[in-house]
Amino acid sequence: MEKIKLLPQQEILKIAAGQVVDRPANIVKELVENSVDAKATKIIVHIENGGKELIRVIDNGCGMSKQDAKNSFKKHTTSKIRSLSDLDKIQTFGFRGEALASISAVSKVTLITKEKDADQGLKLELEDSKVISEEEVPFVQGTDLSIQDIFYNTPVRQKFLKKRETEQRHITQLMHSFCLDYLDITFKFFVDGKQIITCPATDDIIKRAAQIWGHEFAKNLIPLETSQQEGKPRVWGAITNHQYFRYDRNNIFLFVNNRWVKNHNIQSALIKGYNNVLPVARYPAAFIFVKIDPTLIDVNIHPRKEEVKFLHPRAVPTILQPLVKRALEEHLSSKINTKVTFKTQDTNNFSQKDNVGTFGTRTEQENNFTQFNFDQFLHKQSTKPNTNVTIPEFTGTSANTQTNDRVSTRTTSQEEINTPVEQKEQNSQSVQDTQTEIVHHSYEIIGQYKKTYILIEKEDGLFFVDQHVAHERVLYQLFSKRFENIATIKLLFPVFITLKEEDLSLIEENLDIFKQNGIDLEIFGKNQIKIQATPVHLKSVNLEEIIHETLASIKEFSGLDAQEFSQKVHDHLHSQMACKAAIKAGDTLTFKQIEKLLSDLDQTEGRFACPHGRPIGWLLSQYEIEKKFKR
Ligand code: ADP
Ligand code: MG
Repeated sequence: MEKIKLLPQQEILKIAAGQVVDRPANIVKELVENSVDAKATKIIVHIENGGKELIRVIDNGCGMSKQDAKNSFKKHTTSKIRSLSDLDKIQTFGFRGEALASISAVSKVTLITKEKDADQGLKLELEDSKVISEEEVPFVQGTDLSIQDIFYNTPVRQKFLKKRETEQRHITQLMHSFCLDYLDITFKFFVDGKQIITCPATDDIIKRAAQIWGHEFAKNLIPLETSQQEGKPRVWGAITNHQYFRYDRNNIFLFVNNRWVKNHNIQSALIKGYNNVLPVARYPAAFIFVKIDPTLIDVNIHPRKEEVKFLHPRAVPTILQPLVKRALEEHLSSKINTKVTFKTQDTNNFSQKDNVGTFGTRTEQENNFTQFNFDQFLHKQSTKPNTNVTIPEFTGTSANTQTNDRVSTRTTSQEEINTPVEQKEQNSQSVQDTQTEIVHHSYEIIGQYKKTYILIEKEDGLFFVDQHVAHERVLYQLFSKRFENIATIKLLFPVFITLKEEDLSLIEENLDIFKQNGIDLEIFGKNQIKIQATPVHLKSVNLEEIIHETLASIKEFSGLDAQEFSQKVHDHLHSQMACKAAIKAGDTLTFKQIEKLLSDLDQTEGRFACPHGRPIGWLLSQYEIEKKFKR
């Protein structure tokens, strides 16, 4: 008996469709791109329930004739190409001619469209790729496409759709990209009936950013402009200044020949341009536009054209990085005679307390030099030893207590109120317990060098251990092994953090993640969360940063399947918690504390690298020492 059967045509269509449209945001993208191709000057987008129930795109573009409207849903129908030789010349978005065919295979579609000179518009309703009703209706010029009940006929795919907030976030991000990309188009965006984007046409990227995110944000933007050099790509746009940062890269947008794309090399060139201006793991917002000869790029490496490959991968980075650096420097030197505030970040390995006095606020006089030297600024900070901080226990009490909120708002000072009253569980594995017996070892502790490195005499040489990295490793192991029953303390005064609505709903969706890691929080009022308990080791760290960084990782990994998502977000949180709770460079340690740390390290797996991959220690061998002395 034959086992091989030909799938029914309709099933083939549905399977193929899934590859083009795997989530509501893809549909929005295809439809808005069609509207742009149709030369619309106004585009209105509605979504309901994260786009799962409804996506509606209305434009005032060229519209379609009756016959074209019917053909547009057939596979491989397009008005944008006639032959394969046109392929590399095509400047529009579409040319595969399969978006509408795919969408109508997996959802219910209503199309109303009218060309300029037609008397009447045409209304078509489709289900399972078939026209189920057709009538003439009055309509203005343009197209109004509604997509309902995505994947209603492919339940397996429907199951993979994410929660409303997740899908909504992807669509919102996409709408931001369109708004930034097409300044001369008026965009409106409605979510469940509520208008959340109003962008009248403009000719200025900074004005557009203000329309999207408000004037307060746009004040931080500086324009980027290069004069076009013969044969080279043109690069321009706008970036945020030194006073702004985000915890994620979500507001870095790159457009290559008007196409929103991702490109690792270009993004890292941008971030490198901020070297010494923003701390590690803090990111700018940036809108970078590249115009390049289309024969020098390949946009077809990604099925949905979300990435782009350059024939000369360094061409744009070598223009962008110095451009960003120069723009930031010029911006800063233009500010030098006005009062500039520099606050330090705890992501550098030095004590905050010590730096507040030294680097907190620069006076006008201090700022009165022509070229600000970033390198010197950072060097000074990071090497300044801390003279007055000791740590009685390895709980990170000496650091991380200062906040620097350039963008976020904070309602309470954690340092003042974050006092533990109850210690639920003593953690025997923790470095905190200084009473634990020390295992006998074959080394002698010499002491600390620069209050940063522990020096150890070993039989075969002199061993250096980075105290922060070592403690970070120990804590990371502790958090990832023991999470779910980690030792926590109740805060005498809860910490309140104000968040955006979108972030609040993300927290609500992912409360478990925080709970499992000993961060006991709840939504408080309309725009706050209240943290009532934390792991013992976190009692003195900046919880707000942990929350923001976790939100960023939740967003970043939201596209993954549930298991991978959970693993990545937990892992990220564990390394954040470890990094923040660990002792810092500059902290004075007693011998007992050093012994405890080394013995804990001894029992920790993977002990030669911190969670971020930095080495924990290295050996200066006796041989090398003796060679230096020509023995
Ligand atoms: P493609 O965009 O690759 O041509 P689509 O399936 O997205 O394929 O669209 C098929 C055709 O339908 C387009 O080529 C275009 O002629 C027509 N079309 C789709 N959307 C619109 C619109 N909003 N306005 C005018 N024509 C449209
Ligand atoms: Mg298209």
